[in-house]
Parts: sequence; C-alpha cells; structure tokens
Amino acid sequence: MDSLNQMYTMLKINEIFYSIQGESTYAGLPTVFVRTTGCPLRCTYCDTKYSYEEGDDYTSEQLFAEIKSHGTKYVCITGGEPLIQKNIYAFMKKLCDLDYIVSLETSGQIFCDKVDSRVKKVIDIKTPASGAKDSFDERNLKYQDVNTEFKFVICNEDDFYWSNDFVAKHLSNAHSPILYSPSFDNHDEKWLAEKILLKKIKVRLHLQQHKYIWSSTDRGV
Ligand code: SF4
Repeated sequence: MDSLNQMYTMLKINEIFYSIQGESTYAGLPTVFVRTTGCPLRCTYCDTKYSYEEGDDYTSEQLFAEIKSHGTKYVCITGGEPLIQKNIYAFMKKLCDLDYIVSLETSGQIFCDKVDSRVKKVIDIKTPASGAKDSFDERNLKYQDVNTEFKFVICNEDDFYWSNDFVAKHLSNAHSPILYSPSFDNHDEKWLAEKILLKKIKVRLHLQQHKYIWSSTDRGV
C-alpha cells in the first residue's frame, strides 16, 4: 500500500470474501463479508483467532470497490469485533446510503448506539462456557426490535439453561429473533434441537450453514 493511501486509511481489515451467508435470518443469501481485525475477547470456541492481529489497512474507496465487484446487495460486517474501530460506523452508514443491505455481527460487549438503525444487528450474548459471560453490555437489550437478532452459542447443558433463564428474564417480549447456535465443536445440532423441543423454548435453532457446506476450518467461506 503506497503512502498516499495510508493517509486515507480507514479500517484494518482481516479479509474480504464473497460467500453464502451461514448465519442469522439472512442465512443462505450470497453475501460479501468484511472481516475486521482485532477483538478484546478470547472466547473458548473462537473460530477466527486469525483475526486478532492479522490484517491490512484499507481506505473506504478500496472497500467499496471490492464490495461492488461481487454484484450483491448483501454485506456482512464481522470480526473480530468490528465496533472497536471507530471508523466502522461511518463505513456502515455509507453502505446503507448506497442501498446495500448491511448486517453486523458483534460480540455484545460494546453498546450499539452509534450503529446506523438500518443495519441489522446480530448481537451475541456470551454464555458461561464462552469464558466471556460478563462481557455483555446490557444497554444492548434496548434493541429488542425486528432489525436486531440475539444469538447464544450453546456449548453444553449449563449454557442451555443459563440462556433460557436469560431469555425469560430479559427477552421474553422481544420482537427480535432469538438464535440458539450449537458450538460447532462441542455439541451437535440434534442435541440442541431436541433440547429446544423438549423444553418448548420459543427460540430459533441456528446452524452455521457455511461449516456444513465447506468445513469448520476453511477460511474465506
Ligand atoms: S467475540 Fe468473536 S472474534 Fe472475539 S474472541 Fe469471541 S468468538 Fe472470537
């Protein structure tokens, strides 16, 4: 990257790729993913450890050009934790202004008040087995609307019951989809599906489709 571009650097990006959205209610849609660099958390099941440090500086113009080249309206901002970079907010707003349909995957540790209201927020609520249970900023509970989704990654039975208690206490009247996702390496989808049915929990079983289509270790999918 030349010195002129460095002057206008906006974001540190780990990778940009075009794939099938594997998560959220946008699952199945061809999507451009922009994975930012850096995350303050270290979840036990993290599948993107390579995003903690690796990345290059990009200008917004470079990012818009790359996104446009893929010919889809769906853009997913993911990480790492995208919200630790202050320039991400203006970048997402500009994408919305350009009529992209933007989703944000965030770990829930940062209050989303600066996120443009047109962006679909997919907010993790970290369970005990993640090792980051106390990281959630409860002010994010104000976003219980149809354009926000709350995701629990369930690693074991304790996580399942902890999540049920959390939903009953804080999200029982939410208009948001509530997603229960089995931790890919710890518990299978059938186990979680049967738990949801048995306990009559009003949540959505959430599978990471890209890991079934490709593999849990492939990058850029
Ligand atoms: S918040 Fe996401 S990127 Fe950060 S450590 Fe946890 S799983 Fe990994």
